Amino acid sequence: MLIIKDISNLQSYLTAYQNRKYSIGFVPTMGALHKGHGELIKRSKNDNHKTIVSIFVNEKQFNSKEDFNSYPRNKGLDYDFCSDNNVDLLFEPSAEEIYNKDETILKNTYFNNILCDKYRKGHFDGVITVLNKFFSIVKSNKVYFGEKDFQQLKIIEKFIQENFKFLEIESVPTKRNEEGIAYSSRNEKLSKKQIQDFVSFHQKVENFLKTLEESFDINTANQKAKDFIVEQDIEEFDYFEFRNNKDLSFNGKVSESRLFYAIYKGKIRLIDNLKI
Ligand code: AMP
Repeated sequence: MLIIKDISNLQSYLTAYQNRKYSIGFVPTMGALHKGHGELIKRSKNDNHKTIVSIFVNEKQFNSKEDFNSYPRNKGLDYDFCSDNNVDLLFEPSAEEIYNKDETILKNTYFNNILCDKYRKGHFDGVITVLNKFFSIVKSNKVYFGEKDFQQLKIIEKFIQENFKFLEIESVPTKRNEEGIAYSSRNEKLSKKQIQDFVSFHQKVENFLKTLEESFDINTANQKAKDFIVEQDIEEFDYFEFRNNKDLSFNGKVSESRLFYAIYKGKIRLIDNLKI
């Protein structure tokens, strides 16, 4: 496996791939790799001749320096993970390699002021700013994103449609552990007790979903969601609501929706979304 840190070196490999007419799949990540990332890599390996994974903890998408500094990083393990998953090329640039000193931050205009965009102001501006860079540098045929970050997936779909017409976006279902919780780099920061509490919360949410009828309107389900969440023993939450999975509105039936939540365990913010 190649590990490349600078753009010019990367570009010489990309040119060689293109000359050989290899199709390229790209999996952007922030590292601390787990089985969820593994699913994206598997899909890319299946679809393309070559798979490129990037690891870049993008400071511009964090709301606080503290959250950025404490984001899990485990380089050695990530190298083994990629190598075990037969990644062809790992791109791990520094912030200086990606950004100019006075980099302009792009403004995200899609799915604004709802869900994570409402509670993490500027987060998606940072996400599209970095992806704009990465998509221009890597110029892959396909790029892979997880449904775990569903609002992010919807925003990037739109961003690609408008700005990177050569690129195809593929979405990958959320990979969960045996207890049902989604793999996430942030889970590494949870104590044993916090994990147990999170698993028990998640199982209650799944049972709650079973009590709903698919024919309910999203608004009716949201009344029930409100009643459910206030009774749970959680420290804090940003949102817990059903939204239409096409346009993230409150229109339609529960059968065409997902339940989105962002809760806190201590300072750690955990997000997920579930189909009924
Ligand atoms: P991150 O490293 O957290 O920025 O995530 C990189 C990519 O992996 C994003 O497209 C995520 O949506 C995706 N991802 C993260 N966790 C999971 C999971 N449990 N299942 C599937 N995809 C995931």
